Amino acid sequence: MADLYIDGSWIPARGGGRREIRCPADGSLVGEVAEADAGDTELAVAAAHRAFHEGPWPGWSSRERGDLLLRVADLLERDRDAVARAESLDTGKRLVEGGYDVDDVVSVFRHFGHAADAEGGRVVDTGNPSVVSRVVHEPVGVCGLITPWNYPLLQVAWKVAPCLAAGNTFVLKPSEITPHTAVHLMRVLEEAGLPAGVANLVLGEGPTAGAPLSEDPRVDLVSFTGGLATGKRIMAAASATVKRVALELGGKNPNIVFADADYDTALDFALTAVFLHSGQVCSAGARLLVEESLHDRFVDDLVARACDIRLGGPFDEAAETGPLTSAAHRDKVEAYVAAGLAEGAVLRCGGARPDDPALADGFYYLPTVLDRCTSSMSVTQDESFGPVLTVETFTDEAEAVRIANDSIYGLAGAVWTQDSGRGQRVAAGLRMGTVWINDYHPYVAQAEWGGYKQSGIGRELGRAGLEEYRETKHVWHNIAPEPQRWFGGSGS
Ligand code: NAD
Repeated sequence: MADLYIDGSWIPARGGGRREIRCPADGSLVGEVAEADAGDTELAVAAAHRAFHEGPWPGWSSRERGDLLLRVADLLERDRDAVARAESLDTGKRLVEGGYDVDDVVSVFRHFGHAADAEGGRVVDTGNPSVVSRVVHEPVGVCGLITPWNYPLLQVAWKVAPCLAAGNTFVLKPSEITPHTAVHLMRVLEEAGLPAGVANLVLGEGPTAGAPLSEDPRVDLVSFTGGLATGKRIMAAASATVKRVALELGGKNPNIVFADADYDTALDFALTAVFLHSGQVCSAGARLLVEESLHDRFVDDLVARACDIRLGGPFDEAAETGPLTSAAHRDKVEAYVAAGLAEGAVLRCGGARPDDPALADGFYYLPTVLDRCTSSMSVTQDESFGPVLTVETFTDEAEAVRIANDSIYGLAGAVWTQDSGRGQRVAAGLRMGTVWINDYHPYVAQAEWGGYKQSGIGRELGRAGLEEYRETKHVWHNIAPEPQRWFGGSGS
């Protein structure tokens, strides 16, 4: 049973609420956690507020904060197997993927551990030798961090590491269905020596445990990763107290394949782009745009390979991908596919639950390819967040860019071509926060991540990811002050 972590103590929810966490691969019980309500979140905000304004934390130097993050990275590396297992049980993803996620989390803590004291501000030349003018960075204050279920600890790390590096305090509200690795992180922060009240964890549902974070005037910044509809709600609520808002929302990401691409590699990555983690990836390449002349052969080969993808639970070593996260999410994916078929999309494979009795207790859905789609269809515009690929065609570069940009989203996209000039031209034309040329999915903690258009506001990772958590102050120091006599002077 995991409790809430508030002001350095593990405490049950005040109302006695509890929630069972079940593995989506087979419905088995993973554990039980406390279920907070708004009152618990208010307590956590009060603790974070106190720790920011009165605690020892504000006195820590940026190097001390950086060193703490490096210790956290070491401790998570020590705990790699246990954390990977917890992540895989909560999400249903393969254990090997859970392990890769922990490696990424460690890199993120190391990156921000080193970045914490990298830039201390700057001196401005005012042209007046009697003035010392400095621009300094300060923490924003109390941060509300709200995260989703697909990469639970990784999404948490993208927020917690820069938040602490910059000297803030926080209340974290992870997804209610995948809480265990966030609980583990709090234990690690405690072990690394973080003062009480700096990190607080509330577990529970968004509208009850999460919503107060965007409403409470003591919270200075709310950083949210999740769906578009929730993001809009959070932004509207945060406007009442004009708090800073950082949003990492959905995507409907084009994967553009030109006829001159390296065929085998483009085909292989077209599968990984969309079917990795059963499509539950915000940057999934769920919208294949293939040059018309290549379409028939490419889609035939892709469908043949998609049909062979092996589904299974976290500890099934033969499995290549896992289940969807919940029954409700699978229902949503099924409704999405049905809408596409009603609009005229052609089902080439999948479109159903697997009939393997061994998978009957999990929320599995077959890798699905919908061919002959157009950008006017809902399936090419809406995010399914499941293992569903839509296929459209184009005849030239300009049309490829136009179709790819025909979306409310602008998170990520890829282009496959052996013509470097074309790759660069298409990358420049895409209105997206990340563009891969002849690759799909890689990211590094040193480079910014985030969306154009309705995929979000702000950036995580990289330099900008740290700046999200910093205020900027200009300090003007007149070292030889004299009366100015603007008033009451000679009058001339
Ligand atoms: P969601 O919006 O349903 O929930 C995300 C988080 O918000 C959860 O912790 C939830 O409890 C909380 N929440 C819900 N309502 C709330 C409210 N009114 N106030 C405060 N918190 C609230 O999203 P999800 O289903 O968990 O995640 C899937 C979505 O996340 C997809 O749209 C995906 O594209 C997006 N995502 C984006 C990125 C990115 O980097 N851009 C990364 C991962 C996931």
